[in-house]
Amino acid sequence: MELLRNIAQQPANSSNKTCEPNPQRSCEMQRKKTEDHSHAPAEMARIVTDPATGKCYCRGKVLGKGGFAKCYEMTDLSTSKVYAAKIIPHTRVSKPHQREKIDREIELHRVLHHKHIVHFYHHFEDKDNIYILLEYCSRRSLAHILKARKVLMEPEVRYYLRQIVSGLKYLHEQEILHRDLKLGNFFVSESMELKVGDFGLAAKLEPAGDRKKTICGTPNYLSPEVLNKQGHGCESDVWALGCVMYTMLLGRPPFETTNLKETYRCIREARFSLPSTLSSQARQLISSLLAKTPEDRPLLDHILRHDFFTQGFMPERLPASCCHSAPDFHVSSPAKSFFKKAAAALFGGRRDKVKYYDTLNKLTKEEEDIYKLRRDLKKTVITQQQTKQLTEDGRTPSPSAERAVAASTEGLPSTTRDTIRLIVRGSLGSCSSSSECLEDSTTGSVAETVASVLRGCLENMPKVDDIPKGTGCGNLQWVTKWVDYSNKYGFGYQLSDHIVGVLFNNGTHMSLLADKKTVHYYAELGQCSVFYTSDVPEQFVGQVTVLKYFAHYMEENLMDGGDLLSQADTHMPRLYLLQWLKSDRALMMLFNDGTFQVNFYHDHTKIILCTQKEEYMLTYINEERVSSTFRLSSLLSAGCPADLRQRMEYSLNMLLQRCN
Ligand code: ADP
Repeated sequence: MELLRNIAQQPANSSNKTCEPNPQRSCEMQRKKTEDHSHAPAEMARIVTDPATGKCYCRGKVLGKGGFAKCYEMTDLSTSKVYAAKIIPHTRVSKPHQREKIDREIELHRVLHHKHIVHFYHHFEDKDNIYILLEYCSRRSLAHILKARKVLMEPEVRYYLRQIVSGLKYLHEQEILHRDLKLGNFFVSESMELKVGDFGLAAKLEPAGDRKKTICGTPNYLSPEVLNKQGHGCESDVWALGCVMYTMLLGRPPFETTNLKETYRCIREARFSLPSTLSSQARQLISSLLAKTPEDRPLLDHILRHDFFTQGFMPERLPASCCHSAPDFHVSSPAKSFFKKAAAALFGGRRDKVKYYDTLNKLTKEEEDIYKLRRDLKKTVITQQQTKQLTEDGRTPSPSAERAVAASTEGLPSTTRDTIRLIVRGSLGSCSSSSECLEDSTTGSVAETVASVLRGCLENMPKVDDIPKGTGCGNLQWVTKWVDYSNKYGFGYQLSDHIVGVLFNNGTHMSLLADKKTVHYYAELGQCSVFYTSDVPEQFVGQVTVLKYFAHYMEENLMDGGDLLSQADTHMPRLYLLQWLKSDRALMMLFNDGTFQVNFYHDHTKIILCTQKEEYMLTYINEERVSSTFRLSSLLSAGCPADLRQRMEYSLNMLLQRCN
């Protein structure tokens, strides 16, 4: 089969187009062809013969292109076994040092035998090329997977990292340093097993003093000691693991800046940001892997004993669908009440069946059943009929009644002791939008941090009459428009960078990027799936329709709540809503990164608290929609006038009472 497929791929002008799956005949024809057309580029030959053994191979499709080599699918015509073949034309390695590099790669790689290292089968050369036959990894590399997925979920990262560490441990035990660990060098087999590959920059481990100070070639994730020309040790491979883990979870490398000089400075100082969207265990592990001093980084064995691995779910296997879409781990998570309840409702008393789905990562046959479950869940999330009603009967989500009425109500209470009359709310991860508060513990801790910062400021800030001088607002992201349609679907908002978000009543969240094409879906904090509006997974069609509807409505009908706009981030929504809450006087919104915004209805003033460059900043938008931004530390020492203080107090009270 495989052979027929490969041969069928030959271009029409190929002299082998009459080639049949007969190894002997193929070889003869190919030899004849090479003789007849000796001027033809040698690497175009479809059938390749190992001169030493006489074995014939058929070259198939291109798998990728490397520095010296092009990589092809290649089939052994006598066994039909398929390899990934690196083919290097002699002309590309004509200089002695280039040839030495290839020879060194072959020497190092050919003796390695490990489940998580790309297997080296054979190498040979003819007069045109060098051929290296490797284990074929049909699902390409983690770089390809991340490109399709944008970010990976923590359980997936555990799954891949465990295998990388296992392969790397074996390499280090053989006293080999890889020196270029990156997503593109982690190959993935048909059965989703990870294999470390590409030994182009690998080297034998030398004692610290004897190490070469430079590497010929540029590793992707340079460590501080390699940049400082102190040589590459096992710890430098561990540093690269930290970069890999970071990139998988956040979709961008840790030391990415707009210029190389700045990137190098950040690497030398081991300075990188760790968003609060990551679990605390993930943050701790990344911080230790990316320790500035090599000796402070953990040993490979210790990495696997870290809380990140021991306290979180680690799938034994991943379904192949993970190459392009996020797995539904929350089906098996006890905390995910919505999906759990929906599954239970679907299967009634058949608990065994629900439990069966808990092991979904173990078996591939079940993927089909899971698909059915998801399809049914979709009906529970938002029924087709409801969606149809929303789009067909021309009803627009009205900015809630309170908002209109509130404009005429009196101002704020004058002391912090006034009670807050809560009206309605919603939280990520909770399927409640009314009286019952079922917030996620992570949302709780984000809220607690913000509350303690605000409280600390209010308790120590002197009273003054004048508003202090503000600083620039940086690239502040805040909510410029919002719509409460929680009586039916959820709460929608538009950010100053034009990203639109909806926190649905079922506790899930969707962001529509400014390109209006990319959707980020969160069922809980930090666990994201990405897809395009042109290719929406079936179970999300209803929610995406509502999301687009909210976006359209706000675009067409609402005015920006101030004139501060920020740059659009085309890759990732930096902010997504964790919790919103409305009292009779104000709307409060709390975001994943701790950004906290309160809009007061009666005079349209707003307070936005956020962190920028690890410093808390407070922005106040006044009745005239004019904004002033202050460092919280400056407010703390210089003080602020009573009207701003009052709003800060009221905001703090809303935060404290959000679960009452
Ligand atoms: P480089 O060293 O520049 O990364 P390689 O020659 O190792 O280049 O690989 C080039 C490309 O070929 C890779 O990016 C990948 O797409 C593909 N490739 C390499 N090895 C394999 C393999 N074992 N299985 C499948 N594809 C592979």
